Amino acid sequence: MVKNVLGLRCIKCHKEVPAEAGTYTCPSCGSKGGIMDVEYDYQAINRMTTREQVTKSRDYSMFRYLSFLPIRPESARPHLSVGWSPLYKPQGLGKSLGMSNLYIKDDGQNPTASLKDRASIIAVIKAGEEKAPTVACSSTGNAASSLAGNAAAMGLKSVIFVPSRAPQGKIAQLQIFGATVISVQGSYDDTFRLSAEAIDHFGWYNRNAAINPYLVEGKKTVALEIAEQLNWDVPDWVILSVGDGCTIAGVWKGFRDLYQAGWIERLPKIAGVQSTGCCPLVDAFLEDRPWQPKEENTIADSIAVGVPRNPDKALKAVRESGGTMVAVSDEAILAAMRELGRSSGIFGEPAGVAGTAGLKVLVAKGIIGANEKVVAIVTGNGLKDIQNAIKAVGEPTKVEPSLKELLLKLDERPEV
Ligand SMILES: *Cc1c(COP(=O)(O)O)cnc(C)c1O
Ligand SMILES: [Zn+2]
Repeated sequence: MVKNVLGLRCIKCHKEVPAEAGTYTCPSCGSKGGIMDVEYDYQAINRMTTREQVTKSRDYSMFRYLSFLPIRPESARPHLSVGWSPLYKPQGLGKSLGMSNLYIKDDGQNPTASLKDRASIIAVIKAGEEKAPTVACSSTGNAASSLAGNAAAMGLKSVIFVPSRAPQGKIAQLQIFGATVISVQGSYDDTFRLSAEAIDHFGWYNRNAAINPYLVEGKKTVALEIAEQLNWDVPDWVILSVGDGCTIAGVWKGFRDLYQAGWIERLPKIAGVQSTGCCPLVDAFLEDRPWQPKEENTIADSIAVGVPRNPDKALKAVRESGGTMVAVSDEAILAAMRELGRSSGIFGEPAGVAGTAGLKVLVAKGIIGANEKVVAIVTGNGLKDIQNAIKAVGEPTKVEPSLKELLLKLDERPEV
């Protein structure tokens, strides 16, 4: 047990159990719905570090917030530098959206180029604490590549289950990081179920974020950084894309932990964005009813999750915060890729920019005000999925190596 952790509490029946190795889900509710939250002793956190100490820390990674994490300070950690991603205030993008206080948190700048590194690094540290030689997960792609990378850095083996549709960039990462890659010929739901059976069968360390309560704790560090990078003056809104729902739950948990520890004075509203081609949680939220499975029909592969694995925590995050959810078309996602790239030099993958696409809709509807302080999280880097990037922007101008032809071709391109 870690000193700052009180225990694990079931989000369904609220039963509290000790945080012991091997305990992931609620013993009463089981893995269906019995997802746990890590409970902290906030006084212990404040005894470990103060806000002022953290602000002066020269550890420019998510481990500057060690006192808020469920790992032992002495545990072995991989050398990769995860977190402390840049928070930009891109003037061009703000202008094009008509917003005066818009920030972009670029989490595509992590070691394996997505926000998932924040969870995967916790997974391999916990696996190390539990002396597990092999870690495993199923993933739409980024959890996979980030687990493989962090496992490689930690000297652990990884077994990764991905749906056959995962983009080549992510598959290449897996192979480079030496994972055993199982490409499941089926949907993400099929992939998740097979991985759960195999993990049970072989006893591997389980990195499935909806099951393992420690991973959301890693993801929450993005919220801690946003607060600190804004001088502990929290934004009005934080907006990001949603698949399984673990990331948005992590963002909310991060702000709540800071609030309960007395480090911030208020909480932001949280907005979740999905693609209209796969939006079970947006539908459930807007129609105020239980979620139903949906087809996975979107180019944003990282959020093509028809059967979300952490729906309750995700919806709770949005509702408790007084936030909202919105679905955007794939065309709007491609447009957001162009807009972010061209106005601010930031390159996100489709799911990475879906938050920005949703922001545009919510501003147009007047739900988010033009002068409100908003942070949109770019959750993954665009180089992971080149095919869709090319779809967004088209092919370059082809010329023979002759100035005459170049001049002719440039005449056809008035923007030059
Ligand atoms: C995983 C992922 C998401 C969504 O996170 P969930 O926890 O599945 O909701 C969004 N964007 C990117 C790039 C991702 O990899
Ligand atoms: Zn329970």
